[in-house]
Amino acid sequence: MASAELMRLWKLHEIDSELLDIRRKAANFNPGKDIQARIAELEALDATVGAKYRNLHTEQIDLDLSVKTLQDKLKKVDKEMYGGTVTSSKEVANLEKEIFSTKKQISDIEERLLVIMDEIGPAKTEADKITAELETRKKQYAAARKEAVALKTQLETRYAELNKARPDAARIIPATMMSKYENIRAKHGTAMAALKGQNCGGCGTVQSERIILSARDDKTVVCESCHRILYFSEGIL
Ligand SMILES: [Zn+2]
Repeated sequence: MASAELMRLWKLHEIDSELLDIRRKAANFNPGKDIQARIAELEALDATVGAKYRNLHTEQIDLDLSVKTLQDKLKKVDKEMYGGTVTSSKEVANLEKEIFSTKKQISDIEERLLVIMDEIGPAKTEADKITAELETRKKQYAAARKEAVALKTQLETRYAELNKARPDAARIIPATMMSKYENIRAKHGTAMAALKGQNCGGCGTVQSERIILSARDDKTVVCESCHRILYFSEGIL
């Protein structure tokens, strides 16, 4: 069993450790970071793969419309040609030329439309996959942020509680002990470590027989390696 003085110091150490832990958590607090990175990746993919599908789709609609316009034109020229109003051979030749060129335009467009039809299916599959994952990830991210707000509040509440409890825990520590404690804490973040078997619970170093016996004997001893104050308690194994 540790001395009453060391037990009180250990209580303070537990408060300080938890405060440190909360500060570290707060410093690295970026929930949903991985999801956010994946969303950025997917958005970049959408700008290429997704855009490819959208461009094909737009082109298909435009070309369909062009074919329709050209077919209407063809009908009109046909009507003119065989409507009995055209008499001169020059006019006939001109109309024939126009019919030929319009048919050629239609056939060129239809060729391109066949290529688009081949490509648009797989392109849509790819684009849809990205859109679906983006939607899922965005929902996940929103959920993660919501959870994070709750966790942050919880941490802040606990931090305030510990900060409030600290002065009372510190007040009962003798001044020399306190200044030793604070010096070690300033250097190592935490000032105490439990003796776990023969090892320092802070850095893991195996302690000498002399240190172990002193610690068990309620003497204030420090780890031979990290210099934290060693705390021995039957409860800590
Ligand atoms: Zn140590």
